Amino acid sequence: MYVIERHNDPATPGARDTVGGWPILPAGEPWPLCFCGERMILFFQFDIPADIAVFGGDHLLVFQCPTHNDAVVAKGVSDQLPPRFWDTPPPLYTAPGAFWRIMLHRDHTSPTPDPDEYLRPRRLDFRPATEQVTLWWPGEALSDGQDLDSAFTDHGIGLPEFKIGGVPSWIQGRESYTCPCGDNLVYVCQIPTDTGFDKHHHRPEQPDTFRFGQYGLFLGNETYVLACPAHCHPAAAWPVNQN
Ligand SMILES: [Zn+2]
Ligand SMILES: [Zn+2]
Repeated sequence: MYVIERHNDPATPGARDTVGGWPILPAGEPWPLCFCGERMILFFQFDIPADIAVFGGDHLLVFQCPTHNDAVVAKGVSDQLPPRFWDTPPPLYTAPGAFWRIMLHRDHTSPTPDPDEYLRPRRLDFRPATEQVTLWWPGEALSDGQDLDSAFTDHGIGLPEFKIGGVPSWIQGRESYTCPCGDNLVYVCQIPTDTGFDKHHHRPEQPDTFRFGQYGLFLGNETYVLACPAHCHPAAAWPVNQN
């Protein structure tokens, strides 16, 4: 597991591990637009360290609309996500369409010529860390024959850090989703509650902000990013929001 650390040093064009800055997009993918037509903000991007299971070596990018700031909560609890859920998500309580886009890829593409216009571009670093898993047991006993390892897998929660890998901290319990390609989405990284990113001074405050001077993802909900292990599409990734 790696804890993601934010620096005050500005990010420069071509930097791969950044808040804001110049996105390194998958081949053939344009800068993402919200359902409302606005160009999305690049909140952050980074190269996933090589020793992270399944996604090590991928480049991850997380975008959200500057205007649409909502939680991603689907109506009707189904673990099967619909075809092209990244463009047309299942019906949401808060928005009529996708106001975020999360992408992973290994393409040899260049940074875009122009940077994100909302966030102050900053460098990210990664610190190897040890996960601490707590066994959370809501009134259940170990079932017959279940060993402690599988109990941790089924019921364990990790630290509420800004982190890559490890175990999600699942405030409201584990959630799992199936990609339209048939694979089960796999946890990649986690963004803690009320993680704010400094905006450029001349930009307006974010609608429904939790902290003036900063923009946040998904109303500040804790977010667990799950993605398709088969990499069936660069945007086959789903943000689980909990609080
Ligand atoms: Zn929008
Ligand atoms: Zn898939």
